[in-house]
Amino acid sequence: MSEKTPIMEVQNLKKYFRIDSKHTLKAVDDVSFQIYEGETLGIVGESGCGKTTCGRTCVGIYQATEGKVLFRGKDIGKMNAAERKEYTRHVQMVFQDPYSSLDPRKTVHEIIAEGMRAHGLVHSKAEEIEEVQKLLQQVGLNAEHASRYVHEFSGGQRQRIGIARALSVNPEFIVCDEPISALDVSVQARIVNLLIKLQKERELTSVFITHDLSMVKYISDRIGVMYLGKMAELCEAERLYENPLHPYTKALLSAIPIPDPKVEKERKRIHLGGEVPSPVNPPQGCRFCGRCPYAKDVCKTVSPELREIEPEHFVACHLYE
Ligand code: SF4
Repeated sequence: MSEKTPIMEVQNLKKYFRIDSKHTLKAVDDVSFQIYEGETLGIVGESGCGKTTCGRTCVGIYQATEGKVLFRGKDIGKMNAAERKEYTRHVQMVFQDPYSSLDPRKTVHEIIAEGMRAHGLVHSKAEEIEEVQKLLQQVGLNAEHASRYVHEFSGGQRQRIGIARALSVNPEFIVCDEPISALDVSVQARIVNLLIKLQKERELTSVFITHDLSMVKYISDRIGVMYLGKMAELCEAERLYENPLHPYTKALLSAIPIPDPKVEKERKRIHLGGEVPSPVNPPQGCRFCGRCPYAKDVCKTVSPELREIEPEHFVACHLYE
């Protein structure tokens, strides 16, 4: 990672969805963090923790209910039309499901060239063809794939097309939302390696959203752990695995199988009791309270703030106050 300059700042972000006149789903509920230029920030958590909603709100697919997302110091919620258009070029998303995120009626060339044309990045048909072919090669596909339709490709190849589409407008920031979870295990590592290679070559800043804790360590510089709409812990990737502090992170990490059979035999898994509460009616205090083996009285009533416990190691837990 180069200089620690924040490229994106998420400040007290809330994203709520109205279900009906009485119920509101609090998908992201007062989350703050920064993303530094050139880094990969992994965001992990179980299904329903708000990680995808958080990523989509940062990209601008969802409008924040409260709080701000600043990109290079500019509030994305207050951008004018021209700034917004620039933003949609600089910040791109790779989606979870390559099967549904690519238009089946278009050829691969049309899918990839669409953004280039919309942003005026190509000036002739010949240039467009050349750029599409270059991108296909960069993502490990061939020039002749350009004239085919997405149904002719495997899941891994479709995700490569999705990555080429995201890169077609030369972004500086990409959000990858569970980019490997719909793929066979055999191709997951190849797609992750491709993302790492492209991130280095293009000096991209990226956010990698996943529920897969073993894979996120491999790709991320820092990792944020989300639980029920809140950030529970955030620090450098290695430190998170060596010294997790939040009881939820400890439980998640204890569930990762270890490839060494001897060490695996001795692995002590922390089993969490209780159910994940509903984000429609989250607990008043710490959201992890009903499942936490260390819960104290204060945890039932006061929601812990995310605090810097050690340099660059942030934890939201009353045990560290
Ligand atoms: Fe457990 Fe309390 Fe910490 Fe929440 S704040 S994780 S309930 S100890």
